[in-house]
Amino acid sequence: MTVPLSLRTGFLQDMLDRAQNPSDGELASIIEKARKKKGLALADVARLVHVGDPELTGRLFRAAAEVKQEIYGRRLVLFAPLYVSDHCVNECCYCNFRAANSGLERRRLTLAEVEKETRYLIAQGHKRILLEAGEDPSRNTIDYIVSAIKRIYSVRTPKGNIRRVNVNIAATTPGNYRKLKEAGIGTYQLFQETYHRPTYESLHTGPKADYERQLGAPGRAFEGGIDDVGLGVLFGLYDWRFEVLALAAHARNLEAVRNVGPHTISVPRLREAPSVSYKPAHPVSDADFLKLIAILRLAMPYAGIILSTRESPEIRSRAFDIGVSQASAGSVPVTGGYCSGARQPQFDIHDARPLREVVRAAAESDLIPSFCTACYRSGRTGERFMELSKPGHIHKFCDLNAALTFAEYLSDFGDAGLRRKGRELIRRCVGGIENLALREEAGRRLAQIARGRRDLYF
Ligand code: SAM
Ligand code: SF4
Repeated sequence: MTVPLSLRTGFLQDMLDRAQNPSDGELASIIEKARKKKGLALADVARLVHVGDPELTGRLFRAAAEVKQEIYGRRLVLFAPLYVSDHCVNECCYCNFRAANSGLERRRLTLAEVEKETRYLIAQGHKRILLEAGEDPSRNTIDYIVSAIKRIYSVRTPKGNIRRVNVNIAATTPGNYRKLKEAGIGTYQLFQETYHRPTYESLHTGPKADYERQLGAPGRAFEGGIDDVGLGVLFGLYDWRFEVLALAAHARNLEAVRNVGPHTISVPRLREAPSVSYKPAHPVSDADFLKLIAILRLAMPYAGIILSTRESPEIRSRAFDIGVSQASAGSVPVTGGYCSGARQPQFDIHDARPLREVVRAAAESDLIPSFCTACYRSGRTGERFMELSKPGHIHKFCDLNAALTFAEYLSDFGDAGLRRKGRELIRRCVGGIENLALREEAGRRLAQIARGRRDLYF
Protein backbone atom coordinates (compact mmCIF):
# COMPACT_ATOMS: atom_id res chain seq x y z
CA MET A 1 0.00 0.00 0.00
CA THR A 2 1.06 3.62 -0.33
CA VAL A 3 0.78 5.26 3.05
CA PRO A 4 -1.81 8.05 2.79
CA LEU A 5 -0.33 11.50 3.44
CA SER A 6 -2.37 11.97 6.63
CA LEU A 7 -0.82 8.83 8.12
CA ARG A 8 2.80 9.52 7.26
CA THR A 9 5.04 9.85 10.27
CA GLY A 10 6.53 13.18 9.12
CA PHE A 11 3.10 14.68 8.45
CA LEU A 12 1.74 13.67 11.87
CA GLN A 13 4.88 14.78 13.72
CA ASP A 14 4.77 18.20 11.99
CA MET A 15 1.12 18.61 12.86
CA LEU A 16 1.83 17.74 16.48
CA ASP A 17 4.84 20.07 16.70
CA ARG A 18 2.91 22.95 15.18
CA ALA A 19 0.09 22.47 17.70
CA GLN A 20 2.35 22.78 20.75
CA ASN A 21 1.48 25.36 23.40
CA PRO A 22 -2.19 25.88 22.55
CA SER A 23 -3.81 28.66 24.54
CA ASP A 24 -6.23 27.84 27.35
CA GLY A 25 -8.99 29.49 25.32
CA GLU A 26 -8.31 27.27 22.32
CA LEU A 27 -8.35 24.13 24.46
CA ALA A 28 -11.53 25.16 26.22
CA SER A 29 -13.29 25.72 22.91
CA ILE A 30 -12.11 22.34 21.53
CA ILE A 31 -13.48 20.59 24.63
CA GLU A 32 -16.73 22.51 24.27
CA LYS A 33 -16.99 21.51 20.60
CA ALA A 34 -16.35 17.86 21.50
CA ARG A 35 -19.40 17.86 23.80
CA LYS A 36 -21.54 17.90 20.65
CA LYS A 37 -20.47 14.25 20.08
CA LYS A 38 -19.46 14.84 16.47
CA GLY A 39 -15.81 13.94 16.96
CA LEU A 40 -12.85 16.23 16.44
CA ALA A 41 -10.78 17.39 13.48
CA LEU A 42 -7.18 16.17 13.43
CA ALA A 43 -5.90 19.70 14.07
CA ASP A 44 -8.02 19.84 17.24
CA VAL A 45 -6.75 16.43 18.42
CA ALA A 46 -3.17 17.65 17.84
CA ARG A 47 -3.83 20.56 20.20
CA LEU A 48 -5.88 18.69 22.78
CA VAL A 49 -3.12 16.14 23.44
CA HIS A 50 -1.06 19.02 24.83
CA VAL A 51 -3.57 19.76 27.58
CA GLY A 52 -1.75 20.05 30.92
CA ASP A 53 -3.55 22.61 33.06
CA PRO A 54 -5.43 20.80 35.88
CA GLU A 55 -8.59 22.85 35.44
CA LEU A 56 -8.74 22.13 31.70
CA THR A 57 -7.85 18.48 32.27
CA GLY A 58 -10.77 18.27 34.70
CA ARG A 59 -12.99 19.76 32.01
CA LEU A 60 -11.67 17.23 29.51
CA PHE A 61 -12.59 14.36 31.86
CA ARG A 62 -16.03 15.78 32.52
CA ALA A 63 -16.71 16.18 28.79
CA ALA A 64 -15.52 12.63 28.08
CA ALA A 65 -17.67 11.25 30.91
CA GLU A 66 -20.67 13.12 29.54
CA VAL A 67 -20.13 11.81 25.98
CA LYS A 68 -19.55 8.29 27.30
CA GLN A 69 -22.74 8.49 29.35
CA GLU A 70 -24.83 9.89 26.49
CA ILE A 71 -23.62 7.39 23.91
CA TYR A 72 -23.05 4.28 26.00
CA GLY A 73 -25.16 4.91 29.08
CA ARG A 74 -24.01 2.90 32.11
CA ARG A 75 -23.19 -0.32 30.31
CA LEU A 76 -19.88 -2.14 30.03
CA VAL A 77 -19.39 -4.98 27.55
CA LEU A 78 -17.31 -7.86 28.94
CA PHE A 79 -15.31 -10.56 27.15
CA ALA A 80 -12.35 -12.92 27.59
CA PRO A 81 -9.34 -13.62 25.38
CA LEU A 82 -8.66 -17.20 24.32
CA TYR A 83 -5.08 -17.91 23.25
CA VAL A 84 -4.98 -20.82 20.81
CA SER A 85 -1.27 -20.79 19.89
CA ASP A 86 1.92 -19.09 21.07
CA HIS A 87 4.01 -20.28 18.15
CA CYS A 88 5.41 -17.16 16.55
CA VAL A 89 8.00 -16.36 13.89
CA ASN A 90 8.24 -12.67 14.81
CA GLU A 91 10.63 -10.89 17.07
CA CYS A 92 8.59 -8.15 18.72
CA CYS A 93 11.01 -7.07 21.41
CA TYR A 94 8.28 -6.48 24.02
CA CYS A 95 6.53 -9.87 23.77
CA ASN A 96 7.22 -13.10 25.62
CA PHE A 97 6.02 -15.12 22.62
CA ARG A 98 8.73 -13.68 20.33
CA ALA A 99 10.59 -16.28 18.30
CA ALA A 100 13.94 -15.95 20.11
CA ASN A 101 12.47 -16.90 23.49
CA SER A 102 13.75 -20.46 23.70
CA GLY A 103 12.59 -20.74 27.32
CA LEU A 104 8.95 -20.94 26.29
CA GLU A 105 7.51 -24.40 25.79
CA ARG A 106 5.23 -23.59 22.86
CA ARG A 107 1.79 -24.94 22.27
CA ARG A 108 -0.88 -24.91 19.63
CA LEU A 109 -4.15 -26.13 21.12
CA THR A 110 -5.87 -29.13 19.61
CA LEU A 111 -9.52 -28.55 18.76
CA ALA A 112 -10.45 -30.67 21.79
CA GLU A 113 -8.38 -28.28 23.95
CA VAL A 114 -10.03 -25.27 22.29
CA GLU A 115 -13.37 -26.80 23.25
CA LYS A 116 -12.21 -27.35 26.84
CA GLU A 117 -11.13 -23.72 27.21
CA THR A 118 -14.41 -22.59 25.67
CA ARG A 119 -16.43 -24.70 28.13
CA TYR A 120 -14.46 -23.15 30.98
CA LEU A 121 -15.22 -19.61 29.78
CA ILE A 122 -18.92 -20.39 29.25
CA ALA A 123 -19.06 -21.81 32.78
CA GLN A 124 -17.74 -18.46 34.08
CA GLY A 125 -20.58 -16.63 32.31
CA HIS A 126 -18.80 -15.40 29.18
CA LYS A 127 -20.60 -15.01 25.85
CA ARG A 128 -17.87 -13.20 23.90
CA ILE A 129 -14.37 -14.42 23.13
CA LEU A 130 -11.38 -12.70 21.59
CA LEU A 131 -9.31 -15.37 19.83
CA GLU A 132 -5.55 -14.67 19.94
CA ALA A 133 -2.56 -16.33 18.30
CA GLY A 134 1.05 -15.66 17.39
CA GLU A 135 2.07 -15.50 13.73
CA ASP A 136 3.31 -18.79 12.33
CA PRO A 137 2.34 -19.44 8.71
CA SER A 138 3.04 -23.17 8.91
CA ARG A 139 1.34 -23.92 12.24
CA ASN A 140 -1.24 -21.18 12.83
CA THR A 141 -2.69 -21.45 9.33
CA ILE A 142 -5.92 -19.70 8.48
CA ASP A 143 -7.57 -23.10 8.18
CA TYR A 144 -6.51 -23.94 11.74
CA ILE A 145 -7.84 -20.59 13.01
CA VAL A 146 -11.13 -21.13 11.15
CA SER A 147 -11.45 -24.64 12.64
CA ALA A 148 -10.84 -23.20 16.12
CA ILE A 149 -13.53 -20.54 15.57
CA LYS A 150 -16.00 -23.16 14.36
CA ARG A 151 -15.21 -25.35 17.34
CA ILE A 152 -15.80 -22.45 19.76
CA TYR A 153 -19.19 -21.70 18.17
CA SER A 154 -20.15 -25.39 18.20
CA VAL A 155 -19.91 -25.75 22.00
CA ARG A 156 -23.36 -25.80 23.65
CA THR A 157 -23.81 -26.19 27.40
CA PRO A 158 -26.73 -25.89 29.83
CA LYS A 159 -25.19 -22.53 30.83
CA GLY A 160 -25.19 -21.22 27.29
CA ASN A 161 -22.71 -20.81 24.47
CA ILE A 162 -20.29 -18.33 22.92
CA ARG A 163 -22.24 -15.98 20.69
CA ARG A 164 -19.47 -13.82 19.26
CA VAL A 165 -15.84 -14.58 18.44
CA ASN A 166 -13.66 -11.58 17.68
CA VAL A 167 -10.20 -12.24 16.31
CA ASN A 168 -6.76 -10.74 16.99
CA ILE A 169 -4.29 -12.49 14.70
CA ALA A 170 -1.48 -11.33 12.44
CA ALA A 171 -2.07 -9.19 9.37
CA THR A 172 -3.03 -11.34 6.41
CA THR A 173 -4.54 -11.36 2.91
CA PRO A 174 -8.06 -10.42 1.72
CA GLY A 175 -8.63 -14.10 0.86
CA ASN A 176 -7.81 -15.15 4.42
CA TYR A 177 -9.96 -12.37 5.87
CA ARG A 178 -12.81 -13.68 3.75
CA LYS A 179 -12.38 -17.07 5.42
CA LEU A 180 -12.62 -15.42 8.84
CA LYS A 181 -15.74 -13.59 7.74
CA GLU A 182 -17.29 -16.82 6.48
CA ALA A 183 -16.51 -18.45 9.83
CA GLY A 184 -18.76 -15.82 11.42
CA ILE A 185 -16.32 -13.60 13.29
CA GLY A 186 -17.43 -10.33 14.83
CA THR A 187 -14.60 -7.79 14.81
CA TYR A 188 -11.12 -8.26 13.37
CA GLN A 189 -8.68 -6.45 15.63
CA LEU A 190 -5.08 -5.62 14.84
CA PHE A 191 -2.91 -3.20 16.74
CA GLN A 192 -0.50 -1.01 14.82
CA GLU A 193 1.61 -1.15 18.03
CA THR A 194 3.18 2.19 17.06
CA TYR A 195 2.32 4.44 14.13
CA HIS A 196 5.79 5.99 14.34
CA ARG A 197 7.46 4.24 11.45
CA PRO A 198 11.15 4.39 12.50
CA THR A 199 10.20 3.13 15.98
CA TYR A 200 8.02 0.39 14.52
CA GLU A 201 10.79 -0.77 12.23
CA SER A 202 13.36 -0.79 15.03
CA LEU A 203 11.24 -2.90 17.43
CA HIS A 204 10.12 -5.68 15.09
CA THR A 205 11.77 -8.32 12.92
CA GLY A 206 10.09 -11.05 10.92
CA PRO A 207 7.06 -10.58 8.65
CA LYS A 208 5.45 -8.22 11.15
CA ALA A 209 8.35 -5.77 10.68
CA ASP A 210 6.67 -4.68 7.43
CA TYR A 211 5.04 -1.44 8.61
CA GLU A 212 2.85 -1.13 5.54
CA ARG A 213 1.59 -4.70 5.82
CA GLN A 214 0.39 -3.89 9.35
CA LEU A 215 -1.06 -0.51 8.45
CA GLY A 216 -2.91 -1.84 5.41
CA ALA A 217 -4.48 -4.79 7.26
CA PRO A 218 -7.80 -3.11 8.15
CA GLY A 219 -8.23 -2.13 4.49
CA ARG A 220 -7.55 -5.70 3.36
CA ALA A 221 -10.00 -6.97 5.98
CA PHE A 222 -12.65 -4.73 4.39
CA GLU A 223 -11.72 -6.15 0.98
CA GLY A 224 -12.28 -9.62 2.44
CA GLY A 225 -15.78 -8.61 3.54
CA ILE A 226 -15.10 -7.87 7.22
CA ASP A 227 -16.70 -4.54 7.99
CA ASP A 228 -16.05 -4.28 11.73
CA VAL A 229 -12.36 -3.67 12.32
CA GLY A 230 -10.56 -2.73 15.53
CA LEU A 231 -7.47 -0.51 15.76
CA GLY A 232 -5.02 -0.22 18.64
CA VAL A 233 -1.68 1.05 19.86
CA LEU A 234 0.68 -0.52 22.36
CA PHE A 235 1.23 2.51 24.58
CA GLY A 236 4.79 2.95 25.82
CA LEU A 237 6.61 2.33 22.54
CA TYR A 238 6.43 5.94 21.38
CA ASP A 239 5.04 9.33 22.50
CA TRP A 240 1.36 8.77 23.37
CA ARG A 241 0.43 12.17 21.90
CA PHE A 242 1.68 11.12 18.49
CA GLU A 243 -0.15 7.78 18.74
CA VAL A 244 -3.48 9.36 19.67
CA LEU A 245 -3.23 11.73 16.71
CA ALA A 246 -2.30 8.80 14.45
CA LEU A 247 -5.24 6.70 15.68
CA ALA A 248 -7.56 9.59 14.88
CA ALA A 249 -5.92 9.96 11.44
CA HIS A 250 -6.31 6.24 10.77
CA ALA A 251 -9.97 6.39 11.80
CA ARG A 252 -10.58 9.38 9.49
CA ASN A 253 -8.83 7.58 6.65
CA LEU A 254 -11.03 4.48 7.04
CA GLU A 255 -14.13 6.68 7.19
CA ALA A 256 -13.08 8.45 3.99
CA VAL A 257 -12.03 5.38 2.03
CA ARG A 258 -14.35 2.66 3.41
CA ASN A 259 -17.18 4.81 4.70
CA VAL A 260 -16.82 2.97 8.03
CA GLY A 261 -14.69 4.06 10.96
CA PRO A 262 -13.08 1.62 13.41
CA HIS A 263 -15.61 -0.42 15.36
CA THR A 264 -13.26 -0.45 18.32
CA ILE A 265 -10.00 1.08 19.52
CA SER A 266 -7.85 -0.89 21.98
CA VAL A 267 -5.51 0.85 24.38
CA PRO A 268 -3.08 -1.78 25.68
CA ARG A 269 -0.28 -0.31 27.78
CA LEU A 270 3.09 -2.06 27.82
CA ARG A 271 3.53 -4.51 30.71
CA GLU A 272 6.42 -6.51 32.00
CA ALA A 273 6.67 -10.01 30.59
CA PRO A 274 8.83 -13.01 31.45
CA SER A 275 12.05 -13.03 29.38
CA VAL A 276 11.47 -9.48 28.11
CA SER A 277 14.17 -6.95 28.94
CA TYR A 278 12.81 -4.16 26.72
CA LYS A 279 11.73 -1.19 28.83
CA PRO A 280 9.15 1.25 27.49
CA ALA A 281 10.99 4.06 25.76
CA HIS A 282 8.02 6.38 26.36
CA PRO A 283 6.33 5.14 29.54
CA VAL A 284 2.81 6.47 29.93
CA SER A 285 1.87 7.59 33.44
CA ASP A 286 -1.55 6.76 34.88
CA ALA A 287 -2.56 10.42 34.59
CA ASP A 288 -1.61 10.58 30.90
CA PHE A 289 -3.21 7.20 30.24
CA LEU A 290 -6.56 8.45 31.52
CA LYS A 291 -6.10 11.65 29.53
CA LEU A 292 -5.51 9.75 26.29
CA ILE A 293 -8.61 7.62 26.85
CA ALA A 294 -10.69 10.75 27.36
CA ILE A 295 -9.27 12.34 24.19
CA LEU A 296 -9.98 9.21 22.13
CA ARG A 297 -13.54 9.17 23.47
CA LEU A 298 -14.06 12.76 22.33
CA ALA A 299 -12.27 12.34 19.00
CA MET A 300 -14.11 9.11 18.01
CA PRO A 301 -17.34 9.13 20.03
CA TYR A 302 -18.89 6.24 18.09
CA ALA A 303 -15.99 3.77 18.48
CA GLY A 304 -15.94 1.24 21.32
CA ILE A 305 -12.83 1.69 23.48
CA ILE A 306 -11.42 -1.57 24.84
CA LEU A 307 -9.40 -1.91 28.04
CA SER A 308 -7.71 -5.13 29.09
CA THR A 309 -6.59 -6.70 32.35
CA ARG A 310 -3.15 -5.18 31.74
CA GLU A 311 -4.53 -2.37 33.90
CA SER A 312 -5.25 -2.39 37.64
CA PRO A 313 -8.82 -2.53 38.97
CA GLU A 314 -8.47 1.11 40.12
CA ILE A 315 -7.39 2.45 36.72
CA ARG A 316 -10.04 0.35 35.01
CA SER A 317 -12.76 1.70 37.20
CA ARG A 318 -11.74 5.32 36.46
CA ALA A 319 -11.38 4.58 32.74
CA PHE A 320 -14.91 3.09 32.59
CA ASP A 321 -16.28 6.47 33.65
CA ILE A 322 -14.46 8.56 31.08
CA GLY A 323 -14.59 6.51 27.93
CA VAL A 324 -13.95 2.78 28.01
CA SER A 325 -16.98 0.79 26.84
CA GLN A 326 -15.59 -2.76 26.65
CA ALA A 327 -13.26 -4.70 28.96
CA SER A 328 -11.76 -8.13 29.23
CA ALA A 329 -12.34 -9.90 32.52
CA GLY A 330 -11.02 -13.04 34.15
CA SER A 331 -8.32 -13.22 31.44
CA VAL A 332 -5.40 -15.61 31.34
CA PRO A 333 -3.02 -14.57 28.51
CA VAL A 334 -1.54 -18.06 28.32
CA THR A 335 -2.14 -20.66 25.61
CA GLY A 336 -4.48 -23.20 27.17
CA GLY A 337 -4.18 -21.21 30.39
CA TYR A 338 -7.76 -21.58 31.61
CA CYS A 339 -7.58 -25.35 31.97
CA SER A 340 -3.92 -26.31 32.26
CA GLY A 341 -1.48 -25.43 35.04
CA ALA A 342 0.99 -22.58 35.35
CA ARG A 343 2.71 -21.68 32.10
CA GLN A 344 4.33 -18.52 30.84
CA PRO A 345 1.95 -15.70 29.88
CA GLN A 346 2.40 -13.36 26.94
CA PHE A 347 2.74 -10.54 29.51
CA ASP A 348 1.89 -9.96 33.17
CA ILE A 349 -1.62 -8.83 33.93
CA HIS A 350 -2.66 -6.36 36.60
CA ASP A 351 -6.29 -7.29 37.18
CA ALA A 352 -6.51 -10.97 38.04
CA ARG A 353 -10.06 -10.88 39.41
CA PRO A 354 -12.39 -13.56 38.12
CA LEU A 355 -15.32 -12.47 35.95
CA ARG A 356 -17.78 -12.61 38.84
CA GLU A 357 -15.71 -10.07 40.82
CA VAL A 358 -15.47 -7.72 37.85
CA VAL A 359 -19.24 -8.02 37.37
CA ARG A 360 -19.88 -7.33 41.05
CA ALA A 361 -17.57 -4.28 41.09
CA ALA A 362 -19.19 -2.92 37.93
CA ALA A 363 -22.68 -3.33 39.37
CA GLU A 364 -21.58 -1.66 42.61
CA SER A 365 -20.46 1.31 40.51
CA ASP A 366 -23.89 1.34 38.83
CA LEU A 367 -22.49 -0.01 35.56
CA ILE A 368 -24.54 -2.65 33.76
CA PRO A 369 -22.30 -5.54 32.72
CA SER A 370 -23.29 -6.44 29.18
CA PHE A 371 -22.71 -9.69 27.30
CA CYS A 372 -24.56 -8.37 24.28
CA THR A 373 -23.84 -9.77 20.82
CA ALA A 374 -26.96 -8.48 19.11
CA CYS A 375 -25.58 -6.06 16.55
CA TYR A 376 -23.58 -8.36 14.36
CA ARG A 377 -26.15 -11.12 14.67
CA SER A 378 -28.85 -8.70 13.48
CA GLY A 379 -26.73 -7.42 10.60
CA ARG A 380 -25.99 -4.12 12.33
CA THR A 381 -22.34 -4.04 11.22
CA GLY A 382 -20.09 -1.75 9.21
CA GLU A 383 -21.88 1.14 7.52
CA ARG A 384 -25.26 0.18 9.00
CA PHE A 385 -23.76 0.24 12.50
CA MET A 386 -22.16 3.64 11.85
CA GLU A 387 -25.48 5.07 10.57
CA LEU A 388 -27.04 4.16 13.89
CA SER A 389 -24.15 4.82 16.22
CA LYS A 390 -23.01 8.20 14.91
CA PRO A 391 -26.28 10.02 15.63
CA GLY A 392 -26.54 8.07 18.89
CA HIS A 393 -29.45 5.83 17.82
CA ILE A 394 -27.67 2.63 18.79
CA HIS A 395 -28.15 3.69 22.38
CA LYS A 396 -31.63 2.30 22.83
CA PHE A 397 -30.67 -1.14 21.48
CA CYS A 398 -27.55 -1.29 23.64
CA ASP A 399 -29.23 -0.39 26.91
CA LEU A 400 -31.96 -2.96 26.43
CA ASN A 401 -29.62 -5.68 25.27
CA ALA A 402 -27.25 -5.00 28.14
CA ALA A 403 -30.17 -5.34 30.54
CA LEU A 404 -31.37 -8.60 28.92
CA THR A 405 -27.92 -10.20 28.92
CA PHE A 406 -27.21 -9.07 32.48
CA ALA A 407 -30.56 -10.56 33.54
CA GLU A 408 -29.45 -13.87 32.02
CA TYR A 409 -26.13 -13.66 33.86
CA LEU A 410 -27.86 -12.94 37.16
CA SER A 411 -30.19 -15.92 36.75
CA ASP A 412 -27.45 -18.33 35.68
CA PHE A 413 -24.42 -17.16 37.67
CA GLY A 414 -25.41 -14.57 40.27
CA ASP A 415 -25.63 -15.03 44.03
CA ALA A 416 -28.43 -13.49 46.09
CA GLY A 417 -26.61 -10.19 46.77
CA LEU A 418 -25.63 -9.60 43.17
CA ARG A 419 -29.13 -10.51 41.96
CA ARG A 420 -30.68 -7.95 44.27
CA LYS A 421 -28.31 -5.20 43.16
CA GLY A 422 -28.42 -6.23 39.50
CA ARG A 423 -32.18 -6.40 39.24
CA GLU A 424 -32.44 -2.94 40.74
CA LEU A 425 -30.02 -1.66 38.08
CA ILE A 426 -32.01 -3.37 35.35
CA ARG A 427 -35.27 -1.90 36.67
CA ARG A 428 -33.76 1.57 36.54
CA CYS A 429 -32.35 1.03 33.07
CA VAL A 430 -35.62 -0.25 31.60
CA GLY A 431 -37.62 2.34 33.53
CA GLY A 432 -35.57 5.05 31.81
CA ILE A 433 -36.66 4.02 28.30
CA GLU A 434 -38.86 6.75 26.92
CA ASN A 435 -40.61 4.75 24.23
CA LEU A 436 -43.52 3.03 25.99
CA ALA A 437 -43.89 0.14 23.52
CA LEU A 438 -40.18 -0.65 23.79
CA ARG A 439 -40.29 -0.43 27.57
CA GLU A 440 -43.21 -2.86 27.71
CA GLU A 441 -41.53 -5.25 25.31
CA ALA A 442 -38.37 -5.16 27.46
CA GLY A 443 -40.50 -6.05 30.49
CA ARG A 444 -42.03 -9.01 28.61
CA ARG A 445 -38.60 -10.28 27.58
CA LEU A 446 -37.21 -9.95 31.09
CA ALA A 447 -40.14 -12.02 32.34
CA GLN A 448 -39.38 -14.65 29.70
CA ILE A 449 -35.73 -14.74 30.82
CA ALA A 450 -36.86 -15.23 34.41
CA ARG A 451 -38.86 -18.23 33.16
CA GLY A 452 -35.73 -19.73 31.54
CA ARG A 453 -35.77 -18.34 27.96
CA ARG A 454 -32.31 -17.30 26.74
CA ASP A 455 -30.71 -15.27 23.97
CA LEU A 456 -33.44 -12.69 23.52
CA TYR A 457 -32.26 -9.46 21.96
CA PHE A 458 -33.37 -6.33 20.14
N1 SAM B 1 0.36 -11.95 17.39
C1 SAM B 1 -0.60 -11.06 16.81
C2 SAM B 1 -0.04 -9.68 16.67
O1 SAM B 1 1.02 -9.43 17.24
O2 SAM B 1 -0.63 -8.86 15.98
C3 SAM B 1 -1.85 -11.09 17.62
C4 SAM B 1 -1.93 -10.29 18.83
S1 SAM B 1 -0.92 -10.53 20.24
C5 SAM B 1 -1.39 -12.11 20.82
C6 SAM B 1 -1.78 -9.34 21.17
C7 SAM B 1 -1.12 -8.03 21.47
O3 SAM B 1 -0.44 -8.15 22.69
C8 SAM B 1 -0.08 -7.48 20.54
O4 SAM B 1 -0.65 -6.85 19.42
C9 SAM B 1 0.66 -6.51 21.45
O5 SAM B 1 0.18 -5.19 21.32
C10 SAM B 1 0.32 -6.99 22.85
N2 SAM B 1 1.51 -7.25 23.66
C11 SAM B 1 2.57 -8.01 23.36
N3 SAM B 1 3.49 -7.94 24.36
C12 SAM B 1 2.98 -7.13 25.32
C13 SAM B 1 3.46 -6.63 26.58
N4 SAM B 1 4.65 -6.95 27.06
N5 SAM B 1 2.65 -5.80 27.29
C14 SAM B 1 1.44 -5.47 26.83
N6 SAM B 1 0.95 -5.90 25.65
C15 SAM B 1 1.70 -6.69 24.90
FE1 SF4 C 1 4.31 -12.78 17.97
FE2 SF4 C 1 2.25 -11.10 18.32
FE3 SF4 C 1 4.04 -11.51 20.26
FE4 SF4 C 1 4.77 -10.20 18.12
S1 SF4 C 1 3.18 -9.55 19.60
S2 SF4 C 1 5.97 -11.81 19.08
S3 SF4 C 1 3.60 -11.23 16.54
S4 SF4 C 1 2.62 -13.00 19.43
